[in-house]
Amino acid sequence: MIRFDNVVLQYPQAPEPAVKGVSFDVPPGRITAVVGPNGSGKSTLVRALLGRLPLASGQIMLGDRPLSALDRRDVATQVAVVPQREEPVFPLPVPDYIALGRYPHGGPFSGRNAEDRAAIATAVQRADVAVFADRSTDQLSGGEWQRVRIARALAQGGQTLVLDEPTTFLDIAHEMAVFELLDALAREGQGILLVSHQLNLVARFADHIVLLHRGRIAAAGSPGDVMRGEVLERVYEWPLVVSRDPAIGAPVLVPLRGRGSR
Ligand code: ADP
Ligand code: MG
Repeated sequence: MIRFDNVVLQYPQAPEPAVKGVSFDVPPGRITAVVGPNGSGKSTLVRALLGRLPLASGQIMLGDRPLSALDRRDVATQVAVVPQREEPVFPLPVPDYIALGRYPHGGPFSGRNAEDRAAIATAVQRADVAVFADRSTDQLSGGEWQRVRIARALAQGGQTLVLDEPTTFLDIAHEMAVFELLDALAREGQGILLVSHQLNLVARFADHIVLLHRGRIAAAGSPGDVMRGEVLERVYEWPLVVSRDPAIGAPVLVPLRGRGSR
């Protein structure tokens, strides 16, 4: 379980905090989604989890311990993160890159043991990346690279999986496969923190949605609670309607054309 408790985050040169007092939980067995316009503070929350940005105030708890009391390796055995942007420092064979996910679990000189190999094999299968086994990380398309990064995080394991815009470069089938995979992982008991622009998919898959607006929570709750026209229109500053998909019954956001015309 991850708990954000009144978290305030400010970049060193910034005139004001990017995150201004945000509280929510990421419990096991659920997909918790963070949505909101560009610049609303979503990735900043993920950066704080990775220890790349110190808390100005508030607390992030991993289980019953504050993040600040844990070392990076402790955190990495509990939380696997797929950040929004990441360039490999140098190209690696895809299997070696995925195996990096096991690094926090071993000692400095330990090789891969049976548990590591099993975790890697399962991750490769679930992220559907076996076809890239002979490639290097610099020989992948944007979407392929994204799937390989998800495989690395799955191999890492831990109670919570955090993904920042994981389906940005994916086509429909691969995007749906990622959402279905996250759903399956949650049903198996894993906690999922999903940052996503795909409001309509989030509304179908997430158990709990946190809508950020300029660093604050504008709405939080079930998809039905958050997918309300007047709330989303104010936050996204664009005319829209929320209707219900006749085939699947889920709330669907439809942005309107121009200011008022359809
Ligand atoms: P998003 O919700 O799109 O992921 P971010 O969390 O990346 O938004 O950014 C939140 C705010 O913080 C934005 O106003 C952004 O310009 C600012 N910001 C992001 N990264 C930095 C940085 N390294 N230094 C200063 N400001 C930043
Ligand atoms: Mg972002």
